[in-house]
Amino acid sequence: MKLQHFINGKLVESTSGREQDVFNPATGAVSGQVALASVEEVNLAVAAASAAAPAWAEMAPLKRARILFKFKELIEKNHVALASAITREHGKVLSDAMGEVTRGLEIVEFACGAPQLLKTQFSDNIGGGIDNWQMRQPLGVTVGITPFNFPVMVPLWMAPMALATGNTFILKPSERDPSASLLMADLLTQAGLPPGVFNVVQGDKVAVDALIQHPDVKAVSFVGSTPIAEYIYSEGAKRKGAWPLRVQALGGAKNHLVVMPDANLEQAVDALIGAAYGSAGERCMAISVAVAVGSVADKLIDALIPRVKALKIMNGMESAAEMGPLVTAAHKQKIEDYIQAGVDAGATLLVDGRGMTVPGHENGFFLGGTLFDNVTPEMTIHKEEIFGPVLAVVRVPDFAAAVALINSHEFGNGVALFTSDGNTAREFSRRIEVGMVGINVPIPVPMAWHSFGGWKRSLFGDTHAYGEEGVRFYTRYKSIMQRWPQTIDKGAEFTMPVSK
Ligand code: NAD
Repeated sequence: MKLQHFINGKLVESTSGREQDVFNPATGAVSGQVALASVEEVNLAVAAASAAAPAWAEMAPLKRARILFKFKELIEKNHVALASAITREHGKVLSDAMGEVTRGLEIVEFACGAPQLLKTQFSDNIGGGIDNWQMRQPLGVTVGITPFNFPVMVPLWMAPMALATGNTFILKPSERDPSASLLMADLLTQAGLPPGVFNVVQGDKVAVDALIQHPDVKAVSFVGSTPIAEYIYSEGAKRKGAWPLRVQALGGAKNHLVVMPDANLEQAVDALIGAAYGSAGERCMAISVAVAVGSVADKLIDALIPRVKALKIMNGMESAAEMGPLVTAAHKQKIEDYIQAGVDAGATLLVDGRGMTVPGHENGFFLGGTLFDNVTPEMTIHKEEIFGPVLAVVRVPDFAAAVALINSHEFGNGVALFTSDGNTAREFSRRIEVGMVGINVPIPVPMAWHSFGGWKRSLFGDTHAYGEEGVRFYTRYKSIMQRWPQTIDKGAEFTMPVSK
């Protein structure tokens, strides 16, 4: 299967001469090839999006919302097809992929409120018969560059918000699982979206660089690893001219879950198992560090070991699967190297996931759940994002040490605290330097009408994704003051205008 671009309302066969294999991670087999765009192909997509922009921006928000509403219905009808496409190329279990589609769908539902979202404020008679109000106007051509781990949800963090607010959009999905992008393009077309309003350019760094450097691209929303997020943010800052590139770049993570001695241990263990090993740890909100406070550590470890060993690891299409394979052989190797780095640094390897095979899927990219104890802050396996099914336990003496450990980490995406004490929870929420906080909630991904984003080196830019922050990101603010001739006093004024 050849996975192509979608430009100006139709599939466009690539002529770049460059392509890359796409795998089914459960079998290790090549399932197709994805085109890697040339600069010329990117230019084609930007030209299509530019041409479509004026009419789309002029369309009444309610009409735009009606198209998104049809898109919502089509996602619901094609929920299983979208989820299956995710599982086939990403490897996550089907029920998890279904949940991913639901979380994306919720952003579409939110974006259907476009008329309300774009409504602004009006001040009658600020003085001298003048009224003052504001508008939020679209930017024009916007771009989304997305990671492999949520091939439906993350594009849907961006595209519905961009489209609802009157922008055209070009998606550059991950080259590792590109099929879902084309399914979504097809559903948007069926929903009645005019050609050129939503485009997909498949590709790698060549496509990304061409998109972020194109003078007609007004805003880029990026989600992926921190080095690339930082690169795109800094490239945006270099843009000269009347309109600097607006960039929102969400990066990597290292998420801690603190277990207090007064926590319900059973609940904390359930939370850790799901949040560390769900989606094989390939989530930016995955918990990769359990912070065991005081006396809870030994009990926690004893409870975790059998649960990690008992994980049901198999092809994600099987209904009993709790964890599927990793996305590629190279990614699996990278995580195995991290496990070795942990051993070499002196951490205690309690459960080693290396070398496991799934019967009938011997060539799949499977790695078993892995558990480390006695991990210290300076070890690589604590400092760096692993992005695999590896949980590190760090032991700390008290609550203050847990907060200090997390606040000293360079990432600040998500964090969780398990406790039964309200005051501890309150103090934690206020003191912790992390963008998304869960209190007895292991993966605190904000709902569509809130906004998603981390702190520190987990986000570059001023706005978080979707929700009201998304509306701000995809629009320009304009303030208008207006009066009519009857209310204008005679004579020029040379002083600062003040209310009269
Ligand atoms: P990645 O950074 O490798 O790729 C993300 C996108 O950037 C892809 O579309 C890719 O084609 C492109 N890209 C890759 N290398 C590039 C380069 N050198 N120059 C320009 N573009 C390049 O990320 P990934 O491996 O696909 O996804 C996993 C990462 O994404 C993890 O670090 C994870 O934490 C992060 N992530 C963050 C969030 C968040 O909300 N903060 C959400 C999901 C994933």
